[in-house]
Amino acid sequence: MNVDRSTVRIIGAGPTGALLAILLQRRGHAVELYESRADPRGAAAQGGRSINLALADRGIHALQMAGVFGDLEAALLPMRGRLVHLPDGGTSLQPYGQRPNEVIYSISRHRLNQTLLEVAARQPQVSIHFEHRFEAAEFDQGTALIRNLRDDRLISVPMQPLLATDGAGSWMRRRMSALHLIEAQETDLEHGYKELSIPPDAAGNYAMAPDALHIWPRGNHMLIALPNEDGSFTATLFLAKHGAISFESLTETAAVEAFLSVNFPDARAAMPNCISEFQDHPVGFLGTVSASPWHHEGMTALIGDSAHAIVPFHGQGMNCCFEDCVEFDACMSRHASWERVFTEFGARRKPNTDAIAAMALDNYLEMRERVAHPKFQLQQALSLELERRFPQRFVPRYSMVMFHHEIPYRTALQRGTVQAELLAELTAGAVSSLADIDFERAQREIRVRLPPLS
Ligand SMILES: Cc1cc2nc3c(=O)[nH]c(=O)nc-3n(C[C@H](O)[C@H](O)[C@H](O)COP(=O)(O)OP(=O)(O)OC[C@H]3O[C@@H](n4cnc5c(N)ncnc54)[C@H](O)[C@@H]3O)c2cc1C
Repeated sequence: MNVDRSTVRIIGAGPTGALLAILLQRRGHAVELYESRADPRGAAAQGGRSINLALADRGIHALQMAGVFGDLEAALLPMRGRLVHLPDGGTSLQPYGQRPNEVIYSISRHRLNQTLLEVAARQPQVSIHFEHRFEAAEFDQGTALIRNLRDDRLISVPMQPLLATDGAGSWMRRRMSALHLIEAQETDLEHGYKELSIPPDAAGNYAMAPDALHIWPRGNHMLIALPNEDGSFTATLFLAKHGAISFESLTETAAVEAFLSVNFPDARAAMPNCISEFQDHPVGFLGTVSASPWHHEGMTALIGDSAHAIVPFHGQGMNCCFEDCVEFDACMSRHASWERVFTEFGARRKPNTDAIAAMALDNYLEMRERVAHPKFQLQQALSLELERRFPQRFVPRYSMVMFHHEIPYRTALQRGTVQAELLAELTAGAVSSLADIDFERAQREIRVRLPPLS
């Protein structure tokens, strides 16, 4: 079975819209992709929303399925673990996994977007319209209004169907919610973010280990840094938006200098431009979007961040959007009508996107606080040891999310909760090293509480 071969309109040529266009045309659909921004191909990368991203197994699987991964492979920078920078200047590497392929990759957002658009544009059935902004949906007539920003002309296109991949601030989601066609919430995080840069050192080399994601956990705020291909790192400071120590309060140069030098002395030394960057760069918004249902009849559906934007602390937002595209593609193969495709897509996907939204919020506490505690570090080491001993039953939650696309997010959340309880029990009290662990008890409990992974 295959859904009818109508022309599909997509609003938003970010990662989700571009990948979806490639998959749709492979199923024989003509695709019209409308994007409000100018064509990024051939243009230099712009600062703003995270310059680089962490790409992991779920995203890679989707890119492979769409035949795009080969075009990107050379630009991937492997990150083998978290390199934690402690307040006393010490560092410790916490490996993400224990097999050679258990790494995540830093990739330039600009490069990724460009490549997806280049591949999409090469397909004879895909037409991409840049500087075209979606402005209105007339649900009673089944049409959408799109403004050509070059000549200010408004055009009308049928929504039979129209897929809205217009991101976290989705105009389509807000409109559907205002008309009570769906229910939607946007929950702001009390913290925002700002990007800073760590240039190459005087010899043109990386200023820190390039094969790690660097973290400076400081309780209520943190700095992270991911490598770029040119020898630099992009650092992101996560900090409260309001309050005593916040983006709002840090306005004077001297206060910014003191905040960065006291909290992140080694990073401050490697960021010669951080004061001007701090003053000039905007504070980015972070939040979680929840909506239900994600579609209206067979006319329109939300996919990607427009349906379920999450906070970035698990490095999964885009990976999750790419997994949406794979699931959507599978639903298209099973149904003849768009309404059925949309209904099944939402039913299968939402429990999983709710799960990653919860895990992403939880990971913020882990990154900014827990990673620095000896008990957490012991539990991490124990997780890897339990996986070595009982690989069919115990896989660390981080690994389930990042390295196992075959394990749904919801399963990772459920099993991760059971595993966290077990880890707390096994490391309770005076237990301070793996030598103190009662592995016979661990084996008994794992057999009872964690059925084999299928
Ligand atoms: C600080 C930060 C760090 C992140 N780090 C990671 C990470 O490490 N790993 C990861 O997997 N994810 C990460 N993410 C999440 C990731 O950026 C998003 O999940 C991903 O970009 C969502 O893709 P999308 O295509 O659904 O939406 P978007 O990327 O937002 O794209 C939407 C597109 O729609 C266009 N558009 C919007 N409105 C209209 C309109 N009215 N008409 C026409 N076009 C329109 C926009 O111009 C844009 O091109 C991070 C996010 C942030 C904020």
